[in-house]
Amino acid sequence: AEAGSEAAGGVLVMATNAEFPPYEYHDNGSIVGIDVDIAKAIAEKLGMELEVEDVAFDSIIPEIVSGKADMGLAGMTVTEDRKASVDFSDTYAKASQMIIVKDDSSITGPDDLKGATVGVQLGTTGDIYVSDLEADGTTVERYNKGFEAVQALSQGKIDAVVIDGEPAKTFVAETEGIKMLDEAFTEEEYAIAVKKGNTELLDKINGALGELKADGTLDKIVAEYIKA
Ligand code: GLN
Repeated sequence: AEAGSEAAGGVLVMATNAEFPPYEYHDNGSIVGIDVDIAKAIAEKLGMELEVEDVAFDSIIPEIVSGKADMGLAGMTVTEDRKASVDFSDTYAKASQMIIVKDDSSITGPDDLKGATVGVQLGTTGDIYVSDLEADGTTVERYNKGFEAVQALSQGKIDAVVIDGEPAKTFVAETEGIKMLDEAFTEEEYAIAVKKGNTELLDKINGALGELKADGTLDKIVAEYIKA
């Protein structure tokens, strides 16, 4: 069935890529994280049941465009290019692309990525922005999962990884011999994507999100996953 018709029956289908801790990841056989809890809270406010679909990151927008999913929550950065395919809700988080290198790396900031071999997750803003450096001699290695890029770094196959700050912190904590640089590569904002022109759902999502921001639920969800 189409997501739209299911939604009318009370199911809200969320597309995500559960390889992005702490926003969405696998834990004991279920998909958990900040985005999942936000989506659950929104679904609850709309009197609907949440269904989570785990797909490749670069399939999330196609799933929304085709109507297989009602919304995408995936630590997804609002970009002008993506706005051509989907509509975005109000933003719910600030984020940055950060650089991860080996502890003994000579790379100390964004300028040093020129000419380096840099790993990214396919189709992410990290991929998009590092690809802009290809003209300066940077080589981009694209992985399906951010953690695969981090593993390649720790094995010495690449010089750096550019990835969102929160998963960067998680991956660095789990991996010996690598560190996150202090200086951000870019500043970005996350929002929920819906099918272009679906103002009915977008208004409902923004209404629910506004309430969750105002009553402190959003901050509470974030605090459960990101220890200050
Ligand atoms: N914020 C990045 C983007 O939107 C990465 C998201 C992700 O990997 N889940 O492209």
